[in-house]
Amino acid sequence: MGIFYSVEHSLLQLISAAERVSNGDLDAKVEIETRDELYQLACVFEEMRIQLKARDQALFDLAITDGLTGLYNRKYFNDCLNLNLKNSSRSNSDLTLIIIDIDFFKNLNDTYGHQVGDTCLIEMGNILTTVLERETDLAFRYGGEEFAVILPNMSSKNCIGMTEKIWRAIRESEIIVGVEALSFTASLGVASSDLIGSYDVFSLIQAADKALYVAKDKGRDCFVMAENNVLTERDK
Ligand code: GH3
Ligand code: MG
Ligand code: MG
Repeated sequence: MGIFYSVEHSLLQLISAAERVSNGDLDAKVEIETRDELYQLACVFEEMRIQLKARDQALFDLAITDGLTGLYNRKYFNDCLNLNLKNSSRSNSDLTLIIIDIDFFKNLNDTYGHQVGDTCLIEMGNILTTVLERETDLAFRYGGEEFAVILPNMSSKNCIGMTEKIWRAIRESEIIVGVEALSFTASLGVASSDLIGSYDVFSLIQAADKALYVAKDKGRDCFVMAENNVLTERDK
């Protein structure tokens, strides 16, 4: 009677886990106490579940990553900004968005070729990954030669240091082309939820975009904060 109960119980556990996995719950671990054929079947099932989960994670990583720079891609940017703004609103904390656009990038492509252009984009990916400090800070390839940085828990006042750090790291970096070391610059548009007075995704992107436009207009190689027009000292 006891053995029958145990076998039936294990079988039900296995069936239940199999159903959950087939419904997409890849965390449905099966734990069986018996040490019989069912246990062996459960071990095989568990191995299969772990492999499925790893493949699922790899596919997800691929879907959110920009192939060239290794940064997160534009699709994931939308999801992340949405989620982070909701969290900031809920916890009444600030969030800063920086949109970065490489200056005269078409010129770089036209002069040195697209491969050098690509090297510059890869370098931008390295710079952003290196400069960002907190695990919650996120860097994205926003499009072509545009990048975006989301800084949760960062007010307009506190973000100036980080913005300046990014701006400086870009203008101090070099890409090697043959025997030549090329430098490049970027313009940055910054929007913080406290200055914008909103946690709305569209408003924040629009404000950062507008600020970037002003930075380009002011001669590039600088950063501008939305609603505040703080311009860096350009140590040229
Ligand atoms: P500005 O200073 O006003 O930003 O000028 P810009 O030349 O940087 O901007 P523009 O929009 O005129 O040119 C952007 C160029 O970026 C054009 C496009 O061919 C190039 N581009 C977009 N994606 C890639 C890419 O993945 N690799 C390379 N090498 N070039 C790219
Ligand atoms: Mg651009
Ligand atoms: Mg550009």
